[in-house]
This record gives sequence, C-alpha cells and structure tokens, in this order.
Amino acid sequence: MKAPNKVKVFAWRVIQECLPSKQNLLKRKITENANCPFCNFPIEDCTHALIKCLDTRKVWQRLMPNIYELNAASTILDVALQMLHRGDEGLLSRFFLIAWSLWHRRNKWAIEKVMLDPFQVANNAINTFKPCLQARVEPSYTMHKTGCWQVPPHGFYKLNVDAALFFDLKKAGVGGVLRDERGEMVLAMSKAEHELHDPESVELVAILRGLQFILQLGIRKIVLESDSLLMVEALKANQDSLSLQGNMLKEVKNMMNCFEEKKVQHVCRSGNQVAHTLAKHAWSIPDVELWMGLVPAFLSQVYWLDSQNVRVENTL
Ligand SMILES: [Zn+2]
Repeated sequence: MKAPNKVKVFAWRVIQECLPSKQNLLKRKITENANCPFCNFPIEDCTHALIKCLDTRKVWQRLMPNIYELNAASTILDVALQMLHRGDEGLLSRFFLIAWSLWHRRNKWAIEKVMLDPFQVANNAINTFKPCLQARVEPSYTMHKTGCWQVPPHGFYKLNVDAALFFDLKKAGVGGVLRDERGEMVLAMSKAEHELHDPESVELVAILRGLQFILQLGIRKIVLESDSLLMVEALKANQDSLSLQGNMLKEVKNMMNCFEEKKVQHVCRSGNQVAHTLAKHAWSIPDVELWMGLVPAFLSQVYWLDSQNVRVENTL
C-alpha cells in the first residue's frame, strides 16, 4: 500500500481492531459505556467510528461512493479486503487515508471537544498526501540512500536488530549487533526464542533483547535500527498502544529512556544483513550466544560488506 507511514500504522491497527474505540476502552474498563461520542449509538467500534457513524457515512458517500455497494453488516475489514481482492492498491491507500483523517477528527471531538468539519479533514488529508500516494520510487536513489548500512553519528553507538521465525522447529530467533561510530563491532548476540510469536511481535522481541544486552554497557547515546517499519513507527508514536504488543512496547520505551540521547529509525533489509544473519544463526543454538569485539566466522562476509560501505562513504 502506497501511503504515509503513519497511515500504514493506522491501517494495521484498524485491521487488528486495536484502535482505542469506546468499545475497546470498555473492554479494558477504561470507560463506563461504549456509546459513540458523536451520535450516541450504543457500540462505537472501529467500523462504526470510521464508516457507519452518520457524518463519516456522508463523507464516504461523496468521496468514495463505491464502498457503499456493501451491505449494512459489512465491517471495515470487509471493505478493506474487498478492495484488496479487486487488486486496486490506489483505492486502498485512499480509503485508509480518509479513514485516518476521520479518526483524527473523532479524537479531536472525543478528547478535546473540538468539532471539525468531516469533509474538510478528509479533503485536507487527500491534498496533503497526494504526492505520497502518487510517488514513484526511484530505484537508483533508493539503492544508494537506504540500501547500505551507515555508521551512526559522532559519539553514538548503533544497535541493529532483527528476527527470524523457524516454523519447522516451532521457535524463533533474534539477533542484535552493536557498532561504534567507526563501524567496529562492539557486541553481537544471537538468541533462540522458544515461544513462537507472530512476525511483528518477534520483531519487537528482537528490539527488547537487543536493548537488554546492551543496557549494562553504560552507553549514553544510541541509534536503534530495525527493518520492521511498523515497530519503528509504533516506538516513535507518543500515545500508548492498546494492541497485544502494548505492554512490550511500553517496556521497550522505558528502556530507551535509560539513554541520554536516542534515535529510533527504520533501515531496509539490505542495510540490516548483519542482524538478520545473527537472527538466522539462532536456528542452530539452544539458547544464546554472545560475541564481544571478535566477529564470528559465519558473520564475517556480511560484516565485511557493511564495512566496505563505510569506507566508500568516508572517501566520497
Ligand atoms: Zn456514531
């Protein structure tokens, strides 16, 4: 789906039904009723808030009339799946972008009691993100800018983490590598995880383990890099998540606060090969392996490739 990252994260949360709708808040005993803050309908779930509530329905009828061919029992997930089956990614992006803007409007009213015009918020979102929806990725630029691992800024250490699922063994592996500003390896770890989580949770476990291993080292400035865009966005988000990973996210955020300066950033897979190789290595180990300073043989090739990039960058 072509959309701004925050809209992608939003779409993911909608599909998991983990937006803090009144129904979800009631389930968690955070509120006393599930009534819609706009129309007082008794159950405000994602579907009601985003497509069925009166004002939002008017927006869809005008901006995307085709989604109203659906029957009254359709949920927001049905709508998204229908668009996916039609194979129209552009429609899906537009759909989630509008839904995202309507959710923003809903929060403005439910939390701040500020009433915004639904058409105005939807049109603003479409106009603001039009370049993003239409963007074409320039392959050479992408290869150069994000294809390589880059050294952290002066005074920082960089932690790259990754995860791998081994369905055959009913286990997962996580890997992490800490390098200094010259690209020298300080610490690498590979750890087997015996509970098989879904792919996104495992990415979060990798971040958690990586931080646990380096917390004792007394490092003050850190760049944390993962190739899981969803987890990176979730970590950057200010509000707490109600998703299944909510508690783990909170724990990771608390750990990040132990550093004086911290950055969380996304790296594409080709820039995260060392951590990826470490995660895959966990397939063959019972629990955990650690390396300090010394690069293990199975890692030497990918590590060498990253250090070639460092040298090229420095001579430019
Ligand atoms: Zn309503």
